Amino acid sequence: MITSIEILGTEELLLQRNPRAAAVHQAIVARGREAVIALNERFADPSDDTAMKRLDTELEAIVERSVSEYVRQASGLFSAEDVDLWTAKITRVPGTYVGRAAAVGVPGALLLMESVESAESDENTTFVSLDDTLSNIAGYCQCGYATSRIVPRQLCRLCSGGVLIAWRTEENQVIATAPKVRSELHAVFEELLDELATIHLATGDASAETPARRRAGNAGITRVNETYAEEIAMLDLTRWRELSDLNQLSQITAVTAHAKHWSQWGLGSARLAMLAMQSDPEIQARMRRIAGSRPAPKPSLFERLFSRR
Ligand SMILES: [Zn+2]
Repeated sequence: MITSIEILGTEELLLQRNPRAAAVHQAIVARGREAVIALNERFADPSDDTAMKRLDTELEAIVERSVSEYVRQASGLFSAEDVDLWTAKITRVPGTYVGRAAAVGVPGALLLMESVESAESDENTTFVSLDDTLSNIAGYCQCGYATSRIVPRQLCRLCSGGVLIAWRTEENQVIATAPKVRSELHAVFEELLDELATIHLATGDASAETPARRRAGNAGITRVNETYAEEIAMLDLTRWRELSDLNQLSQITAVTAHAKHWSQWGLGSARLAMLAMQSDPEIQARMRRIAGSRPAPKPSLFERLFSRR
């Protein structure tokens, strides 16, 4: 079966050997991403449902505008053979999101939509530091950790949210220094995100997706960690392990569901734990892509504090 990842690969290839189309593509993506980042700055409060719906509408308008502009400027730039090759592939992938790119009729449309929309989730990874976060929540913390830094038997929900994001951020930084590990994990998560977003859309129940996450951990992530064991052995995982231990004390049961496997699964565990939350920006972005629209999330207080930004 052909997947959307394969289409993205095909589009990249077609653009690589078509410099004029690639230049058009690049310029429109850059403008679109800029607009999405500016939009996110205007709508910073995820607890405001009306504002979030407006954000979705405006984000949709930016994608629509980018796609139309691309059609106008790039539709004559591809050879008939290239268009035929692309059409033959993309029309075999199910799903409304890919279907929308196929209907555009110009190779590169899927990559364009994906690149413009992903500016949203990239923009969200602006976690400063665990220290700053704990200081911010000290007034609400019920377990004492945020004020005393003495590790309690179990973290309160706010501290649980803080240490989870800190772990995920640390994991990102570690992985960024190991390109092969990073790209292999990316492939594992690309498929998994589709599956998890579909489950979140259908049930809205975080516990329903734990089997999918366990599978991903047992098979996908472990395989990457084993394959690149030598490369990973050269990385400094001290802080990653400390934060992994701290997250064992999380009060979020969906997060700790597989906590006893984290040390064995290795790098990728933090991201996998994070995907348990429906308000996670990656899951949100993927749900919108699959459903065409994002259902209004019902975030808890701690999710409101930690989601999006
Ligand atoms: Zn606390």
